[in-house]
Amino acid sequence: MLAIFESVAIALWLTMDNLFYLFNFSYIGAAVALGVFLYGVKYKHARRVTQLLVGLYMLVYLGLISGENMQIEGFWYYLFTGVFEAATIHYAVAKILGPLVFGRGFCGYACWTAMVLDFLPYKIPKKPRKKLGWIRYITFAASLIFVAALFLAHVGGIERIMFWAFIVGNAAYYAVGIALAFALHDNRAFCKYICPIAVFLKPMSYFSILRVKCDKNKCVSCGKCKSVCPMDVDMTDNSRKRKNGTDCILCFECAKNCPKNAL
Ligand code: SF4
Ligand code: SF4
Ligand code: SF4
Repeated sequence: MLAIFESVAIALWLTMDNLFYLFNFSYIGAAVALGVFLYGVKYKHARRVTQLLVGLYMLVYLGLISGENMQIEGFWYYLFTGVFEAATIHYAVAKILGPLVFGRGFCGYACWTAMVLDFLPYKIPKKPRKKLGWIRYITFAASLIFVAALFLAHVGGIERIMFWAFIVGNAAYYAVGIALAFALHDNRAFCKYICPIAVFLKPMSYFSILRVKCDKNKCVSCGKCKSVCPMDVDMTDNSRKRKNGTDCILCFECAKNCPKNAL
């Protein structure tokens, strides 16, 4: 993982002639590598360490201090202005091309919304999944329409509006995410039903190289893995079409809890 991030860091540093990219992706790569190492030595909160290191960096340093809107509105904004940096690079690496390699690793190890939601008490969903995934397409369309309308109406000071949109958008995500978690007894309900970013993440992670696989020769069908999965994935099915397969956040709770080491 460190090698992947370091390659991106050096490539962007040299092609964009901007030292920030070397620092940015080296930091994220080091945080991910630390998490992988801690997982290897069986530290129970390994994923959370990486999630806090990366999530806080993005929220506080990139978002609040540097004024980059890293939400989906920021992605549309930079895309419309034709500037390939900041949020566009973040989306390309973490949410569009990256998932071809590491699936929804962003959701498990870097997202600053889930970083807070994962502190809530419903780590394992208490109720069956609801058919509410269509809501994410509405939030996705709303974000696009919002930014497009600003451009079409030639509104001045869009950069400033984007900064405030980042603050208001994050506050709204936290409020809705926390309320939904308590209402549905599921920390990740926001991820499953509301988050617009999943519109990018789901189809790309379908092809992910890194994914949980089940060794059928070892599996005794005890069901322990499915009972601890926060995303309701059927990880015992090795096909790409497995139930909720594109929702896997690579948290490895299933693997940690498998008594036969089959995952
Ligand atoms: S689905 Fe959205 S809110 Fe949930 S972890 Fe992924 S990016 Fe974050
Ligand atoms: S926990 Fe392990 S042994 Fe049990 S069903 Fe899952 S993969 Fe099979
Ligand atoms: S428990 Fe396993 S299948 Fe479920 S999200 Fe985590 S890694 Fe993916």
